[in-house]
Amino acid sequence: MERRTTRQITVGDDRTGRVRVGGDAEVSVQTMTSGYTYDVDACVAEINRMAAAGADIVRVAVPKRADTEALPEILSQTRVPLVADVHFHYQRALEAIEAGIHKIRLNPGNIDDRDQVNSVIDACAERSIPIRIGVNEGSIIERKDKQRRMEELGKFFADHRQGHLMALMIAKLEEYLEIFESKGFHDVCISAKSMDARLAIDTYREISRRFDYPLHLGVTHAGPRETGAIRSVVALGTLLAEGIGDTLRISYASDPVFEVEDGLEMLWSLGLRERTGAELIACPTCGRIQVDLFRLVQDVREKLADEIQVPMKVAVMGCVVNGPGEAEGADIAVFAGDRRGIIYVQGRRVANVPEEEILSRLLSECRSFQELVRAGDAKLGEKQVDIVPPDPIGELGSGVKTIAEGRVNRVSIGET
Ligand code: SF4
Repeated sequence: MERRTTRQITVGDDRTGRVRVGGDAEVSVQTMTSGYTYDVDACVAEINRMAAAGADIVRVAVPKRADTEALPEILSQTRVPLVADVHFHYQRALEAIEAGIHKIRLNPGNIDDRDQVNSVIDACAERSIPIRIGVNEGSIIERKDKQRRMEELGKFFADHRQGHLMALMIAKLEEYLEIFESKGFHDVCISAKSMDARLAIDTYREISRRFDYPLHLGVTHAGPRETGAIRSVVALGTLLAEGIGDTLRISYASDPVFEVEDGLEMLWSLGLRERTGAELIACPTCGRIQVDLFRLVQDVREKLADEIQVPMKVAVMGCVVNGPGEAEGADIAVFAGDRRGIIYVQGRRVANVPEEEILSRLLSECRSFQELVRAGDAKLGEKQVDIVPPDPIGELGSGVKTIAEGRVNRVSIGET
């Protein structure tokens, strides 16, 4: 897919490594700590957990002086570029810059004093620190005057809610960018988050048409992972598939590590990043199932995440009915039958084991295959032979009555 061309910014230093955002850089994944920044040990532990999960950039909130005072220690104990999220107090931005932060996020809805913004721009320019201008749907109208906010929003709702909120966010961005551009500061990334997926899509499309700054995508306050994932992936996936977006944060009311995992999975699925570990394919199960497949899939997923660092495809299929076809292209596959599983490596059958041994044998085949790939003795995605499905009666006892030569997609009990 063709990516929209943007300017490029760089976040990080020699110690953390530099993450490029925009231009020809791959789409990066960000997240934000959920605890207090001034609680150094907890903050460092959370950041390191996020980095281990694959976060490219981590943001921390700095509402208090105690938070910015904690930054030097946090920076010294972490190895991922950090962003200070500044709301209301421009002094926090100056303190964070002084502490060595890698990037600043400003919300135009909360800091609009031109002199204050100018002083942050000057401090960032001096140290080559980029700034994200992050507009949020919830803070574009003066919060102190609630009556006015209600009246204004009411007017927008009555007319065309999406259009007016979008116009308001873009106007705020333009207004703010004017300050940056008048000072010749272009080390900028922009975002305009909404909690409405359709509004987010429309707004980012419009922003990408108007500006060439790198875009930080996000749906704000998306909710718990169960529903937030759908809202976020619908909006961000649509934009990314159109080539819009240079970095992203998925926001859940949940453990931020899930934000990283789901952000990466979305980019892998769209082919915008190369996988760093195994890709798991699994059947949804149906009335043909004769093993505890959900548990097996869960166990396989956890073990693969721990032990496999090459992007091999692993298929866990409940039976031989559609399994061979659906597992086509898998490097390692297991087809279950009546409390048994037959395991294949690149099409070659290597084992027929009872249910309680499927997990350990499958993983040992994955580990061995990983070693072969690392040694250059096997190539990912390159099957050696076509999978010859097992005899479902003699070998798996799955109840399937007929089996065509070499294929099992025409059977008397129907298909998936
Ligand atoms: S038919 Fe498909 S969904 Fe049903 S158990 Fe077999 S592989 Fe799984």
